[in-house]
Amino acid sequence: MKITTKQDYVETLRAQQPVIYFRGERVPDRSTFAAFVPHINAAAQTYELALAPEYEDLLTARSHISGNKISRFTHIHQSVDDLIKKVQMLRMLAHATASCFQRCVGCDALNSLYLTTYEIDEKHGTHYFPRLVKYLEKIQEENWMLAGGMTDPKGDRSQRPSQQVDPDLFTHVVEKRADGVVVRGAKAHQTGAVNSHEIMILPTQALQAGEEDYAIAAAVPLIEKGVTLIFGRQSNDERKTEGFDAGNCEFGIVGGEALVIFDDVFVPWERVFLCGEVDFCGTLVERFATLHRQNYGGCKGGVSDVLIGATALAAQYQGSIGASHIKDKLVEMLHLTETVYAASIACSALGGKTRSGAYYPDPLLANCAKHNVTRAIYEIARIAQDIAGGLLATLPSQADLNSPDVGKYVEKYMKGVAGVSSESRMKVLRLLENMTGGTALVESMHGAGSPQSQRIMYQRLAKLEQKMKMAKKIAQIEE
Ligand code: SF4
Ligand code: FE
Repeated sequence: MKITTKQDYVETLRAQQPVIYFRGERVPDRSTFAAFVPHINAAAQTYELALAPEYEDLLTARSHISGNKISRFTHIHQSVDDLIKKVQMLRMLAHATASCFQRCVGCDALNSLYLTTYEIDEKHGTHYFPRLVKYLEKIQEENWMLAGGMTDPKGDRSQRPSQQVDPDLFTHVVEKRADGVVVRGAKAHQTGAVNSHEIMILPTQALQAGEEDYAIAAAVPLIEKGVTLIFGRQSNDERKTEGFDAGNCEFGIVGGEALVIFDDVFVPWERVFLCGEVDFCGTLVERFATLHRQNYGGCKGGVSDVLIGATALAAQYQGSIGASHIKDKLVEMLHLTETVYAASIACSALGGKTRSGAYYPDPLLANCAKHNVTRAIYEIARIAQDIAGGLLATLPSQADLNSPDVGKYVEKYMKGVAGVSSESRMKVLRLLENMTGGTALVESMHGAGSPQSQRIMYQRLAKLEQKMKMAKKIAQIEE
């Protein structure tokens, strides 16, 4: 079924029920499960807003395969303009949700595979690229939501995949058959997995000869036999059904991540896009990482815009907005937000054409964009908490505000400036609590790879030797 509206999307989730567990129990219907609803709502915005004429240009594109209008989340970037529009789209969607709308991971998986399968076929004479194009056509036509399955649990980090005591800590092929492969292992932290249709398994790191079984890229429907999802807990997740105490009751906190287990899952060859080509795993991982890191100044920049707005509102509601130090701190938040956004635009603007014909962002600047986020978002959140005050951590609940016994006290003592209700003040403080709390910040640190993985890329790409030569020349050092 082609998904166009939010209703279509939710209907497809209802029609396909993967095996999902949350807090030790099987989820009966993922499409209405309270812990998932905010994440479903956030992902649904990628469908809904694509229908609005004012967002059509950002949220849709022309398929280079069929020529049809498709979701930009299923598009293969055909120009620098496409790369820039992706970042602009993410900032806009973050304005609408103040959360993570999850579909970028699948988009980045498709784009990284598109570039890489083309080159694998060139070198090895395989046929992954036409297979991927066929799969892509289906995804574009049906407008499915694809989760991107990169991160393996990895066990003992000092050991290679084949040296682990338990080999399943890295996802691997346990059997090759005439009609396909059997896959075992798991993918951790899978954004949006519980409300996706399929997951694209990718290798988690560069591999070497002897590790061919771990070199696997394949698309798996989440309802496939042997797939089990375990949904992760988030900060204050029990508040998801508690009105404004949830902070962002419609769209939740960041993506909603799951541990996805593959217990001997069969994948037919037409869904396999890399199998055993260890020489391309490092390239594929690097490209996926670059394409996902490109995003972070867009989505986190957009989330920060809402956070700045909430901080200014909190200051206005408590009468401190006119103080010079508050104005100065808001300016600092604005500066940091535009800085993270600038790097995402820059890596897109300096992107280029690959051998496959698809466009790819500048990798050094994309890593810089994500690395900025691991720092700036913490500073932005710190300033927000500074301005909002201690009430952020001690605020009574909505139930207390509504209580026939103590509601009058909450109303009276939570009051700020005249003309603004205590309820409005409490709502904005809850939003700030949600956006600057545990899960939201950890996502900025580790989503799209931990900061160390970006620092490794600086060492590889930033040409330190060349900079030393420049200095020598200017200092007129001959040796
Ligand atoms: Fe997209 Fe940002 Fe969520 Fe990653 S964290 S999936 S880039 S919205
Ligand atoms: Fe993320």
